[in-house]
Amino acid sequence: MKKRSIITRLAHELIKLYVTKDDVVIDATMGHGFDTIFLAGIAKKVYAFDIQESALFSTKEKINPLQQNHIQLIHDSHEHILNYVTSFKGVIFNLGYLPHGDKTITTNKHTTLKTIDSILPYIPYQGFISIVVYPGHEAGYEESLALNDYLKTIDTNTYHILRVDLPYQNNKPPYILMIIREKEDVHTM
Ligand code: SAM
Repeated sequence: MKKRSIITRLAHELIKLYVTKDDVVIDATMGHGFDTIFLAGIAKKVYAFDIQESALFSTKEKINPLQQNHIQLIHDSHEHILNYVTSFKGVIFNLGYLPHGDKTITTNKHTTLKTIDSILPYIPYQGFISIVVYPGHEAGYEESLALNDYLKTIDTNTYHILRVDLPYQNNKPPYILMIIREKEDVHTM
């Protein structure tokens, strides 16, 4: 199998710093399920969302019988995460379109920001939102600008925002954003 990119692998390493076997986590962009399966290996329960049914088929094929009770695949937009689950350690996004799929079906700045804004108050102390951003395509570039504007408005006493990128690569390479809640004493849902 082709090795995943350094950015994806680093995103996983960062996520591993925060997730334990007692945690519930969410994959907001299931795609082919590689991130979902990764999360299932380190967490207690994974809820994974995608708007494309083909993503659910592709992911289902990768789930082994031992993992079945620990993964819930949901055919819905991540905008509706809170309709399914309100208590979780972290949420991960791998933005863009389904590789080898329909490139016109991609995450977009409106739904991505709406979702992040709605789940942020539910992130517990030492919980996180991890986002892999792909500014190399048009919708992804728009999304990256919108995310940058949005993140500037976040209270940095409560949340730390980390960015890992490849500053010397050409053609707008992907990068990681991670929002980590560092303060305990704000309201917990
Ligand atoms: N994490 C995936 C993996 O490991 O294979 C890759 C994700 S792929 C880059 C992005 C996925 O986001 C696509 O499958 C797309 O259908 C999905 N997507 C786009 N908009 C969405 C939304 N509003 N809610 C949930 N999934 C969405």
